[in-house]
Amino acid sequence: MSPQNKPDRVAWLQGPAARCDEPSDVAQFPWKLVLLGAPGVGKGTQADLLNRRTRACHLSTGDVFRAAGSRPDCDQSPAMQAALGYMRRGELVPDSTVWEMIQERSECLHCTGGFILDGFPRTLGQAESLKQLMDSQGLALSAVVSYELPASEIVERLGGRRTCGKYKAVYHVTERPPKRADWCDRCEGRLFQREDDRPEAIKVRLETYERSTAPLIEFYKNLGLLVEVAAKGSPDDIFEDTLAKLESRRVREVARKVWATVEDHRSL
Ligand code: ADP
Repeated sequence: MSPQNKPDRVAWLQGPAARCDEPSDVAQFPWKLVLLGAPGVGKGTQADLLNRRTRACHLSTGDVFRAAGSRPDCDQSPAMQAALGYMRRGELVPDSTVWEMIQERSECLHCTGGFILDGFPRTLGQAESLKQLMDSQGLALSAVVSYELPASEIVERLGGRRTCGKYKAVYHVTERPPKRADWCDRCEGRLFQREDDRPEAIKVRLETYERSTAPLIEFYKNLGLLVEVAAKGSPDDIFEDTLAKLESRRVREVARKVWATVEDHRSL
């Protein structure tokens, strides 16, 4: 795989009938991550950076909906058409539609390079369904990263966000500008502004986050999976902080497992 390109993720973006031409490399310790945080906090940017460094596949539910919306030729089920309506208004798509989409793509949770779930789960119901599915398939999350940022900065960030239509790389007009304005550095495709980054949709998305998604922080804290990261500073600084916290968590986990094995032997 070219170091510039991320895995193509077609199985994730288009559904299980599609196969990735460039699957993720096999990782020795595949990260299985969930990223939490209000819209605009920079989850997509961090997922992209994490993908480039760790090769874990970036699985964004928002990207699946946007990909479906940008392919007018493809068969859009009534549920998908309704989902796109919710998305344009900045509201959450109903759990049943989202869950159907995740189940169809559950093979992506076995990706050899690991995965980074971005935008899912977003409600307690989704988090509980994901836990049951992963438990039943012998999978476990490595960590849940929660990014935190004041609302005023979030609004500024969302207004300047631009996305690449092909690789979904995320830029910002001032904070993370592309080398050539409006064009992606990696594939030279045109950048666009998301429909739900309009002011009225931003307001709905922030309120919805507080009501439906913020409770997940407590849910994952209780499961001992939460890693908190302040989403202030440059994307690279936030990324280095994320990586350092994840690595130290991994070291602690390995030490804990070694210690448990030693204790088991002692008690024999
Ligand atoms: P954001 O920048 O708001 O985090 P996303 O790209 O993750 O954006 O999602 C865009 C939109 O797609 C959401 O506002 C919502 O309408 C829909 N969506 C994505 N993931 C989910 C989900 N897990 N549950 C419900 N709706 C979702």
